[in-house]
Amino acid sequence: MDVFGLLGNPVGHSLSPPMHEAAYDELGLDARYVTFEPAPDDIEAAIDGADALGITGMNVTIPFKRDALEIVEPDELAARIGAVNTIDFSGPGAPTGHNTDAVGALRALRDHDVSLEGEHAVVVGAGGAGRAISFGLADAGATVSIANRTVSTAHDLADDVPDATGYGLDELEALIADADVLVNATSVGMEEDATPVPAEALHGDLAVMDAVYRPLETRLLSDAAAAGATTVDGAWMLLYQGVEALELWTGEDVPVEAMSEALRSQL
Ligand code: NAP
Repeated sequence: MDVFGLLGNPVGHSLSPPMHEAAYDELGLDARYVTFEPAPDDIEAAIDGADALGITGMNVTIPFKRDALEIVEPDELAARIGAVNTIDFSGPGAPTGHNTDAVGALRALRDHDVSLEGEHAVVVGAGGAGRAISFGLADAGATVSIANRTVSTAHDLADDVPDATGYGLDELEALIADADVLVNATSVGMEEDATPVPAEALHGDLAVMDAVYRPLETRLLSDAAAAGATTVDGAWMLLYQGVEALELWTGEDVPVEAMSEALRSQL
């Protein structure tokens, strides 16, 4: 049996086990997806132990994404983002680290026919999700404006991302007036009726994606729909970061529909 899993703390409410196990069922894989919650000081021992036990692959979530970068061999994208969310133990050498959040966000947008090449994308938030999404959008050819509550963090991220500029939240309305794509990568709206973007700033030429997936229809997305914008909920990014991880671990053609149904049935 192959064992896959998730390292995080806490991981109690993770949606990943049923999403991945739906794919194993569809693919006829004898495999399980298990959540692990090591103490923060034990993360290196946990990764070494997983390697020693023959675990095939693990996802990594808060608060271990940056720690994992120092413990495994990161690929070029994970090193640039500064975070690992997927570890592959299956190769002959040291475990390798990847970041599927960036490509997950791109696949979520492309799934909704959102074009990115040459477009102006505004990312609100410069934490872990904001970093991955900003690198992904820049790699896809968008010009990226990053707006964050802590302005210095937006400037620091913009220094790392090609063709990006950092701003404070007070400049959001002006940025959005000229934008094609808007992504919320803050935690604002998570399990609360709040939005980081004033509704008046939204317009019908925008595609708006929210990284927040609880609730699926955030205030931002309902405001965006009312303004006539294309909307992409956070479950799409969550789905595609998982699809990318499973493709990487197994090399299989992953059953996206089955994973999506298993994910959405929990939300
Ligand atoms: P994080 O590293 O803690 O970053 C949080 C971000 O939110 C920072 O930019 C922070 O700004 C901003 N923020 C927090 N409270 C705010 C407020 N009241 N007003 C304005 N900005 C505020 O968290 P993360 O890992 O990036 O996650 C962010 C969200 O994305 C979470 O809801 C998470 O569940 C979601 N997420 C979704 C996926 C997916 O696959 N759909 C993947 C990853 C994350 P400061 O820098 O000023 O503190």
